[in-house]
Amino acid sequence: MQNISGERRVGAHRKEDNSAKRRFALAAVAATAVTSAGAAGATVGAQQENKQINLAADTTILAQGENSAAAPSTSSSEAPQILEVAQKAPISGLSDQLQSALRFANARAVADQAARAPLAAKPAEGTLTSPFGPRWGTMHNGIDIANAIGTPILAVMSGTVIDSGPASGFGQWIRIRHDDGSVSVYGHMSTLDVSVGQRVVAGQKIAGMGNLGFSTGPHLHFEIHPDGTTPVDPVPWLAAHGIQV
Ligand SMILES: [Zn+2]
Repeated sequence: MQNISGERRVGAHRKEDNSAKRRFALAAVAATAVTSAGAAGATVGAQQENKQINLAADTTILAQGENSAAAPSTSSSEAPQILEVAQKAPISGLSDQLQSALRFANARAVADQAARAPLAAKPAEGTLTSPFGPRWGTMHNGIDIANAIGTPILAVMSGTVIDSGPASGFGQWIRIRHDDGSVSVYGHMSTLDVSVGQRVVAGQKIAGMGNLGFSTGPHLHFEIHPDGTTPVDPVPWLAAHGIQV
């Protein structure tokens, strides 16, 4: 019994020994596993840490890049991005305010110009060389005002351009339909400053005097059709509008 027990003990001891060795081995394996796991965990942790460090480094580089782009002389602790936004906001607001002020000023200038614009203007400065009426066996439907080539030709009243271009006999002509339904006609111009459909105001330069078409020298041929179709003598019509030629 004792022997057996001793045997058992021995055996048990040996068993214990073995089991102890095994436990040790297991423990060693476990320790290795733990160490490996720990090492792996530590490696993962280190990689994550490295990643975070890398991210932090990238952020630092970005921040430095923004710093150097925005304000090279300032340090990163001064948050230049916020300052940049704060600087941009009032500038864009100021631009809007300036544009609004300019629009208002332009609108007021146009209104002032319209209010001060004459109701009628002399179509051109120069010498009246040919009156309205029968001439050379035909009817001269307007007046001729002679001056140098390029002398400004002005719209006699406000209206809309209904013709601007080549015309038989006139070389080039411009016709303007005024707001009262009358039509003014301008002929022989060397240059045209307005186009069909364009709105013009009284006194606005519409062309430069020329010598085109049936013309014996630089002059403006001017007609006025009060009813839109029938020419009348422009001299009394202009005089009725306060214009002397
Ligand atoms: Zn004429």
